[in-house]
Amino acid sequence: MRHLLDTRTLAREDALRILDVAEDMRDTQSREIKKLPTLRGKTVVNLFFEDSTRTRISFEAAAKRLSADVINFSAKGSSVSKGESLQDTAQTLQAMGADAVVIRHGASGAPHTLATSGWISAGVLNAGDGTHEHPTQALLDAFTIRKRFFGDDSRGRDLSGLHVAIVGDILHSRVARSNVWLLTTLGARVTLVAPPTLVPQDVSAWPVTVVYDLDQAIADAPDAVMMLRIQLERMSAAYFPTEREYSRRWGLDAARMAALPTDSIVMHPGPMNRGLEISADAADSPRSTVLEQVANGVSVRMAALYLLLAGERSTNHAQEEAR
Ligand code: ASP
Repeated sequence: MRHLLDTRTLAREDALRILDVAEDMRDTQSREIKKLPTLRGKTVVNLFFEDSTRTRISFEAAAKRLSADVINFSAKGSSVSKGESLQDTAQTLQAMGADAVVIRHGASGAPHTLATSGWISAGVLNAGDGTHEHPTQALLDAFTIRKRFFGDDSRGRDLSGLHVAIVGDILHSRVARSNVWLLTTLGARVTLVAPPTLVPQDVSAWPVTVVYDLDQAIADAPDAVMMLRIQLERMSAAYFPTEREYSRRWGLDAARMAALPTDSIVMHPGPMNRGLEISADAADSPRSTVLEQVANGVSVRMAALYLLLAGERSTNHAQEEAR
């Protein structure tokens, strides 16, 4: 793997390979000394043009646990705010010897531009671009689902037989898009649930079922319900009457939790708007995987960095080092 730009074009075998290496990485994280020497001497740059807490910290922790050097570059307070272009920034990083660039950008397609422009030779990891994709989020979600339903050693398994409902602001959500492609590539059935105003126009070409009523979706007994944040910062118009009305119709609360099968799980990529798309009972319930998702994110990003930077050294090598 040279870059990780999206899940739409990620092959099933590559996705499973990342998840399986993430299992090995996770095993190392319960040790007293969490650090592996694998990426010693490599430099990973976190290039963040949009705010982020968990994704940036997660990539930083992942790179450091593999012994890479990490440079955090956030657009605020940098020359980017003085009008420096993506090209100039990228070439500066290249001159500093970056081996991998983790990029978050408000423009859909920016990571792809960086990877294909010829400005840099580093591997590019998309950490969220506009409303397009957030591939490592989907991979950590798939990893979390696989672990909850198929147990600790589920290497090699895909998600066939499972049904995931993705609920809320699909229109603005790169998390939803990355999950639609990845989960269906891995054999899961996906239902999208949203008000009609928050469903993208091109959804008819996606491999999903769309319903507009959360109670109807819950009655279909999904194994996982993934709640999305209402992305107020990307909303230029009024997509629903009031927050109260949104929460009444599309929010996950205690009553809806009670209507779900007892073994189904509740997911959220964070940051949560408690009381809007998800109530505190739902967010803090034992069936919520929110904190597991955060923990698994480090293992999945370790796997992605390893596979990009340690190149074609085989997966066995990772497994040996993890032992
Ligand atoms: N943190 C995720 C993202 O960056 C989800 C969200 O912001 O709602 O896309």
